[in-house]
Amino acid sequence: MTFEYAPAPESRAIVDIKPSYGLFVNGEFVDGTGTAFKTINPATEEVLAEVAEASEADVDEAVKAARRAYTRVWSKMSGAERAKYLYRIARIIQERGRELAVLESIDNGKPIKESRDVDIPVVAAHFFYYAGWADKLEHSGYGSTPLGVAGQVIPWNFPLLMLAWKIAPALACGNTVVLKPAETTPLTALLFAEICQQADLPPGVVNIVTGAGETGRAIVSHPDVDKVAFTGSTEVGKAIARAVAGTDKKVTLELGGKAANIVFDDAPIDQAVEGIVDGIFFNQGHVCCAGSRLLVQESVADELLERLKRRMSTLRMGDPLDKNTDIGAINSGEQLMRIRELSEVGDAEGAERWEVACDLPTKGFWFPPTLFTGVSQAHRIAREEIFGPVLSVLTFRTPSEAIEKANNTPFGLSAGVWTDKGSRILSMANRLRAGVVWANTFNKFDPTSPFGGYKESGYGREGGRHGLEAYLKGADI
Ligand code: NDP
Repeated sequence: MTFEYAPAPESRAIVDIKPSYGLFVNGEFVDGTGTAFKTINPATEEVLAEVAEASEADVDEAVKAARRAYTRVWSKMSGAERAKYLYRIARIIQERGRELAVLESIDNGKPIKESRDVDIPVVAAHFFYYAGWADKLEHSGYGSTPLGVAGQVIPWNFPLLMLAWKIAPALACGNTVVLKPAETTPLTALLFAEICQQADLPPGVVNIVTGAGETGRAIVSHPDVDKVAFTGSTEVGKAIARAVAGTDKKVTLELGGKAANIVFDDAPIDQAVEGIVDGIFFNQGHVCCAGSRLLVQESVADELLERLKRRMSTLRMGDPLDKNTDIGAINSGEQLMRIRELSEVGDAEGAERWEVACDLPTKGFWFPPTLFTGVSQAHRIAREEIFGPVLSVLTFRTPSEAIEKANNTPFGLSAGVWTDKGSRILSMANRLRAGVVWANTFNKFDPTSPFGGYKESGYGREGGRHGLEAYLKGADI
């Protein structure tokens, strides 16, 4: 049964959302030369603010500011001095953590308990971690020479966390940046710009240009950008790879995934159920490394599915600012349409849909936690990234069959293995073609460990020592 909880809403009084925002260029907020767009709260469809859409000319100004800051200040500064700024930013993020978490939940739709307990702490941890590297780059194995100006384009699923993954290592290595947040989630990046001011970061080291795909394109194709870092869809990732082919730009791409979460018959079943739930329903399934394909050993499939459904029925969906909420809103009407369409394809292809019976709020974008059984490898819901709270369930009999099915995907970002046997974990991890393999856990993120994919999941690593490689020229020797 589900216990009734009294509402426990987090107050939004702590955030001060302005009616309109400009671009953050050369340490100041400036009016863009382009038009403006609205950002909304996906849980209520309330308009939150108007945000400037950076034109090609605005992007050019931002790149010029970044170049000036790079040549005159940032690349000349010692690593120890740069570290002081990064530590300062990390501490301000902690101090303003509640404000950042509330704003993230309002603009993105994710539950406050995730933004408060996962996103923001990991954001601060990234800045602390890379601050520690700034004066030790000569020990990184990748030299200590920065690349120059980095153009960075990020998606809407973890707005501030993706910003941290991009900005912290770039700055630690001595690069300056021009970053574009996603169109639907620009607000925490703009608050981060205020934090840069508060930290007295030299003007031009960080520039935030808001906008949509065209603004992203202008950054990627700007001739004075030395490095492109992108997280988002495989389709746009491919377009970016084409756009920079034949130039000297360095590129890292972190793209989609269709991770297999593999449960063997000797796995601790309740623990596995928690891991499956965390794997696919965390952040409404808007996670590139989500465990969206459950591969369960046939002998325990019935029992596992029964327990999984029972657990799913206890998930609380609703107001993202309520501290009891497990599942928040889908980030946009467009994404909701995509989830609905692919789920309907699942029905049409003959898979069996089961969803949690719950009342959906009348306003905003919502999709109930859903699973499909009777899924075969050829089904589109087993192959394509749904990027929503939808789990496709397949079964297997032997470890080899599990490996074959798990690797039968154009992606290769992450995987999970649930078993009591340590030797099996190691042999599976060796054979799974995925950048990250979690054993008896899922969706664990830490700034010290590298993250990235194979095949259509992209190339390059973010996080850890490996994450420095993307922002340095290579070994100095
Ligand atoms: P996109 O790949 O379109 O968006 C990612 C970022 O790239 C956004 O900032 C976007 O701008 C920007 N962008 C869009 N077009 C271009 C371009 N031609 N050149 C440079 N930058 C560009 O993802 P969507 O938001 O459209 O989501 C589509 C699908 O992608 C989802 O359904 C999901 O399957 C997948 N996805 C995967 C993610 C991952 O982490 N692997 C993250 C997000 C989505 P803007 O948003 O402002 O238009």
